[in-house]
Amino acid sequence: MARRLEDRSDAINELPSSFASSATVRRRMQRQRERDTVPELALRRALFARGYRYRVNYRPVPSLRRSADIVFVRQQIAVFVDGCFWHGCPEHGRRQHRINDWYWPKKIEGNCRRDIDTNRRLEAACWTVLRFWEHTPILEAVTVIVEKVKAASQT
Ligand SMILES: [Zn+2]
Repeated sequence: MARRLEDRSDAINELPSSFASSATVRRRMQRQRERDTVPELALRRALFARGYRYRVNYRPVPSLRRSADIVFVRQQIAVFVDGCFWHGCPEHGRRQHRINDWYWPKKIEGNCRRDIDTNRRLEAACWTVLRFWEHTPILEAVTVIVEKVKAASQT
């Protein structure tokens, strides 16, 4: 608690210079909260164009309150496209939330922990989980997904 108050006072001291940046961060946050992000749409479009059909924002395990971005139900493959900012991408996650360091790392850490937990639960239910960063080239993601879906379809 004391630590948190201390961190907050630091943030308040920085307020005049960081206000605009905070607004930018907030805008980006709101944008990234939305479903159907640009990289996700591009990936879906690329899969659809190759003849693959899937569910979107769908719960692989109905009793588990976790939705995957792209779901191949019969093959039991759940695909997640993780935003670099919110899910703490090692390449782009850090720099972006530097200004709000007193708050964001905790939030992002929580997301990362949840992601790991989701993987574990889905895998326990015999699902294959595929995760891609939003910065992953579409073709690279498509190649991995197609390979897994094909393999699962043969069994
Ligand atoms: Zn990234």
